Amino acid sequence: MSRWIQNPALRIALLYFAVALPWVFFTDLLIRSLSVSAATQDLLNSLKGGGFVVVTTALLYVGVSRVVASADAARERAERNEAQFRALVSSMDDVVFVTDREMRFTELLGPAATPEDRDRMLGRTALELFGPDVGRAYMQVGERVLAGETIYLDWFADAAPMSFPVRSDVTSMRIAVAPLHDASGEITGVVGVGRDTSRLNDLEREREQAESHISFLVNYDQLTGLPNRALVEARLGEAVAVARRERHGAAVYLLNVDNFKDINDSLGYEVGDEVLRAVADRLRALAGPEDALARLGGDEFAFVRRLPEGAHDPRLFAGDILRAFRLPMRAAGQQIYLTASIGIALFPDHGDSPELLLRSADTALNAAKAGPDSQYEIFHRSMAQASGERLALANELRLALERGELSVAYQPIVSAKDGRIVAFEALARWHSPTRGTVSPTVFIPLAERAGLVDNLGRFVRLEAYRWLRECHAAGFTDVLIEVNVSPYHFRRGSISRLISETQEAGLDPRYVVLEITEGALVETLESAEGLLDDLRAHGFGLAVDDFGTGYSSLTYLARLPVTVVKIAQEFVRGSGSHGNRAIIETALELARRLGYQTVAEGVESEAEADYLREAGVDCYQGYLYGRPLPPAEALRCLTDSRGA
Ligand code: C2E
Ligand code: MG
Ligand code: MG
Repeated sequence: MSRWIQNPALRIALLYFAVALPWVFFTDLLIRSLSVSAATQDLLNSLKGGGFVVVTTALLYVGVSRVVASADAARERAERNEAQFRALVSSMDDVVFVTDREMRFTELLGPAATPEDRDRMLGRTALELFGPDVGRAYMQVGERVLAGETIYLDWFADAAPMSFPVRSDVTSMRIAVAPLHDASGEITGVVGVGRDTSRLNDLEREREQAESHISFLVNYDQLTGLPNRALVEARLGEAVAVARRERHGAAVYLLNVDNFKDINDSLGYEVGDEVLRAVADRLRALAGPEDALARLGGDEFAFVRRLPEGAHDPRLFAGDILRAFRLPMRAAGQQIYLTASIGIALFPDHGDSPELLLRSADTALNAAKAGPDSQYEIFHRSMAQASGERLALANELRLALERGELSVAYQPIVSAKDGRIVAFEALARWHSPTRGTVSPTVFIPLAERAGLVDNLGRFVRLEAYRWLRECHAAGFTDVLIEVNVSPYHFRRGSISRLISETQEAGLDPRYVVLEITEGALVETLESAEGLLDDLRAHGFGLAVDDFGTGYSSLTYLARLPVTVVKIAQEFVRGSGSHGNRAIIETALELARRLGYQTVAEGVESEAEADYLREAGVDCYQGYLYGRPLPPAEALRCLTDSRGA
């Protein structure tokens, strides 16, 4: 009821009714009660009517003008409010729309909404505007909102085009669609407010990126971008689980670049890094879609492969890996020749957990490294024991070097012409108090792998140079010393140490012949050309040791900048056979033409010596002429032979 009284039009009408009705009624009664003539009564009635009209007109004027004034004020207020509202919305980056109960747009505001957009959209429904798919979805949302719900919609630019006008840099938006109530609380339509969430999403994305970067740091190797040990262990765990479930096998290939330390030492870490990246690229090219490849650290890489029932021999893939190393790696403008060793462990035979499989593969890798030629090995139980022994031996060798258990023996090399001793080969000897005499064929490779060969080689050479100076001092000034040099020194690309050692010992390099095995020489020739020439330029003699066992072709002999060729014992031993004779004779003939000295190794019998002399060999070395001797005995042997 009170709301009715609020209505100004009704108030005026009621007031008019309340005033006019009694006025008409009582003035009529009053005039009739006056005892005046009928004509006077008519006149009085006319006057009364005129007065009524004047009074009501005045009242009407006052009333209506007040209503109109307040309506004007209200409209002005409304217009001001609306302008303010629009300004506010426009400054807020939000998109606001309003619809009526029929879902017709009645308002559209937003920083990107142009008057044309408003003209296009206002008065029309989402269905009419946005097409059947999006439109219907909006209509359904509208229905739920009209029933009282508030609904939030998320929009992303990369998923769908935007139906409302938004700025081009807005990539995502959250739209809240809520019921629009009138003053009475009645739902009269729908109001939607779309808020730009691009920035929020950017932040979210940045956070996600940061998180994934952290996960990259944790799980991937920075240098090569390959998964690291942590990730590959997890992958290996998955592979094992799948293999167990699906009853197939899996293989772990653990790969180590041979002598990688030398590259770092000689060419620097940056080149080393570059080489590792090149290796990673080569390996990546080999990995199938189901294989996991990782860098476990240093120069060690791992492949985890599934081995389906009846799969090819796991060795074949090892061959593929080794083949990938055949071509030189490019790093720092150089071509670097590398080899690798591989250890293979198979699930379930060699372990049923990632740790065990990796450990078995590691044991197999060690066996591959220790072996003379095979560059890969499949795990075998006996290896675990062998690798334990090797480790113990390596430790003992380290101690032996410190304790002076190593010594040098000298074996004479005599001229085939007159039996004169022209040189001695220095050979390392290890007399272990616990193990007795250990053969250099055992401890030299061990020292190479344990990183002890530097110290060991230096010890042998310095001893030998000192001893040779003794010989020279004793008057045998034409005698040379031959020392074995591990291929490590050549792969390292640094010869300065070899030179400084002779300076240290005060010996002219002309008296020194460096023996390098054929295989190592060929490799050196390819990876470090010029290095051998440098050594030659410093006066060193160079000998191809064990010629014939390196499987290189004879044409290599012509390319090697050597001075001495040492025919391997194997050929001398078998010099009765026609094939071996052909090889010996060809090598000797070639060496003669190239101007190289020739030494036959391991000559044990007169028959061998006779044959070799006839074939044209220059020198002999072998038990027939003298075993490797301790320094004092070797000097005595020299004195005796010269004195005779
Ligand atoms: P190598 O350089 O070919 O040395 C010759 C080997 O043949 C020596 O074995 C020597 O004792 C042996 N030998 C000599 N004449 C005869 C013979 O008539 N009959 C038989 N059966 N053997 C003979 P050793 O001393 O056991 O050395 C084995 C290998 O170990 C050497 O082969 C060499 O490659 C390596 N080696 C020895 N000392 C050193 C060293 O100081 N540094 C390096 N890097 N390697 C070394
Ligand atoms: Mg030798
Ligand atoms: Mg030899």
